[in-house]
Amino acid sequence: MTDRTIEKIVRAVATSDGAGVRLSRAIANAELDHLDPFLLLDEFRSDDPGDYIAGFPDHPHRGFETVTYMLAGKMEHADHAGNRGLLTGGGAQWMTAGRGIIHSETPKQDDGLMWGFQLWVNLPAKSKMTAPRYQDIDPSAIPEVKIEGGTVRVIAGTFRGATGPVQGIVTDPVYLDVRLEASGGFETRIPEEHTAFLYAYQGNGGVGGTSLGTKSLAVLSKGERIVANAGDSGFRFLCVAARPLNEPIARYGPFVMNTREEIHQAFEDFRNGRFA
Ligand code: MN
Repeated sequence: MTDRTIEKIVRAVATSDGAGVRLSRAIANAELDHLDPFLLLDEFRSDDPGDYIAGFPDHPHRGFETVTYMLAGKMEHADHAGNRGLLTGGGAQWMTAGRGIIHSETPKQDDGLMWGFQLWVNLPAKSKMTAPRYQDIDPSAIPEVKIEGGTVRVIAGTFRGATGPVQGIVTDPVYLDVRLEASGGFETRIPEEHTAFLYAYQGNGGVGGTSLGTKSLAVLSKGERIVANAGDSGFRFLCVAARPLNEPIARYGPFVMNTREEIHQAFEDFRNGRFA
């Protein structure tokens, strides 16, 4: 049994996106451009509406998937095809943009805490132009597995016999929200060749003797098993894994394709109204 170790720790970088939403970017920053198949990871956390109220007005996506997971607050999404949904604390949305959507993500609260994450997961060439698909996951649909010294919420993949509600994703992802009390421990097995990372969002802990603090992402080595332990203030983190694609990435803003020509095509299709 080989345990995964921390290969690199990346501190999330403060930035803003959308119409001025303040967030912390852990993937797609100067330290970590991407982590195949993951293209971006943002954490947004604020109880100051000035940091989030502007939201993300209409914008396109093509060629990948966006995964929103909320810990607190309310966010509405609406797209040009008339799809609409409300994300609430503990809920998730796995959106396969495929050949293209135009949507908005809008806070539905005037005050209080807004806290969550958005992850971008790449699609392989054969799936980039697939039909758009939404999986809107109600908080109550996410299994919570009790472990010694903690709880694990299973958004995607399987943990100790519990299977997450997100299904049919081409990169076979695991997305766990792990909440350990002080000195609690967590372990899970992930296919050996899959890319895996932990993103620490509260407290502190470690993997194999390397410690990890809040707003830090640990890139894990290949291996069969992930073992993590909480420090003395408890430890909450995302444990995310998926099959790497090993394909060329051509990326420009909200479009992620394999070649520059396909990026040009995406702009042209967007300008000519072929997304909506
Ligand atoms: Mn979006």
